[in-house]
Parts: sequence; structure tokens; C-alpha cells
Amino acid sequence: MISALEALERLREGNRRFVAETRDPTAATSTARRRSLVDGQEPFAVILGCSDSRVPAEIVFDQGLGDLFVIRVAGNIVAPSQVGSVEFAVEQFHTRLVVVLGHSQCGVILTTLQELRRRTEEQSRNLRSIVERVRPSVEGLLDTDLRHDPQALVHHAVRANIRMSADHLRHGSGVLEQLIENDGLLVVGAEYSLETGEVEFFNGVPAAA
Ligand SMILES: [Zn+2]
Repeated sequence: MISALEALERLREGNRRFVAETRDPTAATSTARRRSLVDGQEPFAVILGCSDSRVPAEIVFDQGLGDLFVIRVAGNIVAPSQVGSVEFAVEQFHTRLVVVLGHSQCGVILTTLQELRRRTEEQSRNLRSIVERVRPSVEGLLDTDLRHDPQALVHHAVRANIRMSADHLRHGSGVLEQLIENDGLLVVGAEYSLETGEVEFFNGVPAAA
């Protein structure tokens, strides 16, 4: 079993390779690797990321087959099926690191901010269910001076939403709470920059193994 801190270091190194364009594109998906995984998997991290086409977890962390258990949903929100997916992975594979990965300029955050300012009646019930999950983390920001600065507002809203999802995973499941308390499970937030390709892990995340 790989500890949360080791897993974190692997992700940091992988992201550095991605940014520096030093990754080996064939190693991650080789036939040998595929064959070695037929009988089982041991992903070293769970990533709950946004579905945005520009943020594929395996690529931005330079990982391959069998490395990451990835859950992607627009706006990296946490609904019961996401909690269930994380529980499944950490129990089945003993994965000890969970990363909520949001990103700059997230379209779901932009839509939610728009929606908070002007209700869009034609929005479908399904899309609304995503927006409603983002809303609590960002609506308070509209009462601050950030409302006069659209760029800063989106930046803070993205981060607030990541923090809320991470908190939800930490406290919204007895199974996860127990593993955090007794078994070295770590749930962290991180933001991917579309502009630089870098993933920034949030404050409070340990620096190195
Ligand atoms: Zn997004």
C-alpha cells in the first residue's frame, strides 16, 4: 500500500513532467502494463475532477493504466454517487489519497455565478442539480468586494467550490471519516491552471513525503 504522502509526491512529480514536457507517452499505456493489470489494480490515488476536456487527470499528472481511480463530473461536485465511488475505491483498493481537482475558468462555476445574478428559467432540472451543489460555496462571495472584479470572483469561486467538495468528502461519509481518523486516508483540494498546466495543492497539504 502506498501512503498518502508518497502518493502526493508521485502526483507532484508527474505534474512537473507534464509541465516540462518530459513525459514518456508510451510507458503509461504499454501492452506489458495492460497485461500486468488484468488480474487486479492498485490505483495509488483517487481523483475527483471536473469533466472539462482540458483537464484529464491521467495526462496532467503523467500517469498510466492502473495508476489513478478517476471520478469526473462537471464542476467536481460531490453528490451521493461521488461519495459512493470514493468509498468503493478506498475500501477495495486501499488507496489512501483522494484529490479534489478543480481548475481555473471552470464553466460550471461561471454558469453558477451567472445563475446567481439572473435566474435562467430554461435551465434543465438536471443541470440545475449541479448548479445547486456549487451555489452554497460561491454565493457568499457576491456579498464581498469581489463582485466588482469578475476575474478575481471566478478565481475565488473555483477555490471555494474545491474546498467545499473536499470538506463534503471528509465529513459526509462515516466510512471516509473513519479511515481519515484511523487509517491514514488524506483528502486534499487542488487547482489545475489551464494557463500554466500546473497543479497547485492547497494550503495545509503536506509538502513532501
Ligand atoms: Zn470545470
